[in-house]
Amino acid sequence: LSFNSARFLLSASRLDECPPDVGAEVAFAGRSNAGKSSALNAITANGKLARTSKTPGRTRLINFFSLNREGCRLVDLPGYGYAKVSRDMKDDWQQHLGHYLNERRCLRGLVLVMDIRHPLTDFDQMMVDWCEHNQLPLMVLATKADKLKFGQAKTAMLTIARKLQAYRCVQHQIMFSATTKRGVDTCREALSQWLES
Ligand code: GDP
Repeated sequence: LSFNSARFLLSASRLDECPPDVGAEVAFAGRSNAGKSSALNAITANGKLARTSKTPGRTRLINFFSLNREGCRLVDLPGYGYAKVSRDMKDDWQQHLGHYLNERRCLRGLVLVMDIRHPLTDFDQMMVDWCEHNQLPLMVLATKADKLKFGQAKTAMLTIARKLQAYRCVQHQIMFSATTKRGVDTCREALSQWLES
């Protein structure tokens, strides 16, 4: 499986606009500004890939990227927690995302992108609980690790590991940086494992 060959496929605002529910997908979730787009760009070695999801009007959409193997896709879920979104928009977002997560049969795992300096927000915890309840494999990408000294980053990873130790869904916890590319290879290996199994 080659991640460098990822191509934008389509954006969906509703479940019935998503590609047919066959093959294998891994979805990326995270709080807005956590570094999700940068992580996707680093994993696919394509500086422009996830820019589509950042264009105004597309931030609320689910964006699909196809890989070189037939039916394998990466999915960029809408970032959570834009400052000052109205209650209605939050409900809408939750419903939208909830539909995708609850209905999508080809979903093989969830990548939760979090800023290593602000790990496990309420939203992150909600996603972890959801994965545990639904027995969906989870990968934690603790990104922007370059913002901390290595020792501090290690400590942050240990804190995350301790908080998540009781969760069986958590399969990978990766120290990551889109800037230095730390963790990119480890992340690709884990993604291949999920998508090819
Ligand atoms: P998204 O909203 O989760 O998609 O976040 P972005 O990928 O747009 O990143 C938000 C901000 O954090 C941008 O200014 C990025 O340049 C910055 N950023 C993202 N990843 C990293 C990283 O690994 N290291 C550093 N130093 N900055 C990062």
